[in-house]
Formats: sequence, C-alpha cells, structure tokens
Amino acid sequence: MSKILIVEDEESIADLERDYLELSGFEVEIENSGDVGLQRAVNEDFDLIILDLMLPEVDGFEICKKIREEKNTPVIMVSAKKDDIDKIRGLGLGADDYMTKPFSPSELVARVKAHLARYERLIGSSAQENEIIEIRGLKIDKTARRVYINDEEKTFTTKEFDLLTFLAQNPNHVFTKEELFQKIWDMESIGDIATVTVHIKKIREKIEVNTAKPQYIETIWGVGYRFKV
Ligand code: CA
Repeated sequence: MSKILIVEDEESIADLERDYLELSGFEVEIENSGDVGLQRAVNEDFDLIILDLMLPEVDGFEICKKIREEKNTPVIMVSAKKDDIDKIRGLGLGADDYMTKPFSPSELVARVKAHLARYERLIGSSAQENEIIEIRGLKIDKTARRVYINDEEKTFTTKEFDLLTFLAQNPNHVFTKEELFQKIWDMESIGDIATVTVHIKKIREKIEVNTAKPQYIETIWGVGYRFKV
C-alpha cells in the first residue's frame, strides 16, 4: 500500500485530502507544521508527499528544496495563490506537480495515482537492470541509490551520488570541472564550477581511506578529474 504524507496547516483541507486518498486505498499521514513535516519527509519512506506552500515554521519552498537534496519522492505542491504556483514553477525546485486550491479531491486522487505509477515505472525499470557498480571496496547501487564502502553504507546527497556515479560509469576518462558541472547540475544553477570541487571533496571524505592519496577519484592538475580503475 502506498504511503502518503500530507503537510498542510489547514486541518479541514488536510482531512478532506486524507479522506479521499484513504477511500482510494492509500495510507495517509498528516503533519500540520512545516518543521515536523520536513523531518518526516526526509527521514521516513513515503511514496508521495502533498505539500502546502504556506506553512508555519518552515514553508513549502524550503521543504521541497530540502527533500530534493535527499530523495526523489514525488512531490505535489499546493497553494491557494495561482501567482505563487507560477513563481515556484519558475524556481525549478523539483516538485513533480502543482495544484491551485481549491481543487476537487478526485482530481488530487487522479494526480496522486499518475505520479505514483510514473515513479514506480522509473524505479521498476532501473530495478530490472539491477545496476550495481563494484570497484574494489566501493559499491554503488544505482537502483537503490546507495553507496557502500566495504559493506558499510555511506550517506550521499543527490548531487554527490550523481557525480560519483557518473565518474564511476566513465572510468579512466578525464572530465573537466566545466563538463562535470554541466553534466550533473544541468541548467539548475548559475555556473559556479567551484561547486564541483566542493562535491568531490565531500565524496572523497566518504569513500577514501586517505583523501590526500585518493584511490578512486584522481585529480588531474589543471584539467579535472578521473575515476581510476
Ligand atoms: Ca497553508
């Protein structure tokens, strides 16, 4: 059964959403404040999150941003103001869908189902490929997006994971910082290639025994980085 988290401070709206979703067979939990909602969204395994924009403590913008740093859980953002929805679309925070309140509960249910199906297809297709990269003591489980060093799991942010995986999938190839920035950060950020350096440093701290003598990601001075095999 899919588990859904509703982060919404208007209790009547939250209850209505929950009632309809439960009728459709979903397991639903509600949080009324932004800070608790954020904690649960990041620390627990929900299949989808319905996120109100205007919330006490921490607002929906911030919550969505934080969720995306950690996970790919589908997020549907809701707001009473159409202007806000246009604004958040423009910010590219990584929400999967946007709805303006009031909306019909049946439309919400339809969208929830569509996003869950899409997400399961995504997960399912990568699961079939069963993609695991293993190089010496490093194991990258692309399906579960997890990284292990000698069977000990290390916590990676989304970008750290993407960067490490990209390099490991293209071993012995030297990439410039610019290339890596374009590849991993795409159009999301205004170019600052120092971001690449910072992420490489963080990755090394997690996977290398001695960060001064990296055995996985090698610095090619004046050029960029190479994943050694
Ligand atoms: Ca609200």
